[in-house]
Amino acid sequence: MKLIRDRILKDGKVYPGGVLKVDSFLNHQIDSELLSETGKELFRLFGDENITKIVTVEASGIAIACLTAIHFRVPAVFAKKNKTVNISDNLYTAEVESFTHKKTYPIVIDKAYITESDRILIVDDFLAKGHALMGLLDIARQAGASVAGAGIIIEKCFQGGGDTLRSQGLRIESLAMIESMSDDGTIIFRK
Ligand code: 5GP
Repeated sequence: MKLIRDRILKDGKVYPGGVLKVDSFLNHQIDSELLSETGKELFRLFGDENITKIVTVEASGIAIACLTAIHFRVPAVFAKKNKTVNISDNLYTAEVESFTHKKTYPIVIDKAYITESDRILIVDDFLAKGHALMGLLDIARQAGASVAGAGIIIEKCFQGGGDTLRSQGLRIESLAMIESMSDDGTIIFRK
């Protein structure tokens, strides 16, 4: 999506370790109009899939999920990063390895909000190694819900998660696909 690629080139900052900072429009200050456009684009791509829930992980996925869900006219559900150990019978839980914080944390979703009658679209800000996506897929599997695919704002292709999950049959639509990033700030997109 040209809108996202242009915005990354204008405002994205490359950090060591293959990290891209997009705090000015996605991860701290949020450009809601831009995210409404990405939501519209995801509706164009997945609108015929009978989606019943848009699912993401807190915190940075929430705005994306809401501004996507509004186009699908369905609820947005976000997995909470569980800080306490009160894993109850009412929760689905999965372990996620954090790309940015280099540690593993549990995510939880209340069983009330995803059921076997749901058809889910997973959304997130970034796709790097695919761990966040795998955690949400695990929860969808536990719930018996079907997954139409994943809509990602920025995929860093060089970190491999997207290609691995696509090879396992998951439909992933990434609105900007970064082939490579170098420490001097050069960003090359996948054609
Ligand atoms: P994965 O689980 O695919 O390895 O990483 C995806 C998650 O890590 C996303 O939910 C995102 O919040 C975070 N993340 C991964 N790479 C980046 C990055 O380059 N910049 C930012 N801001 N977040 C990232």
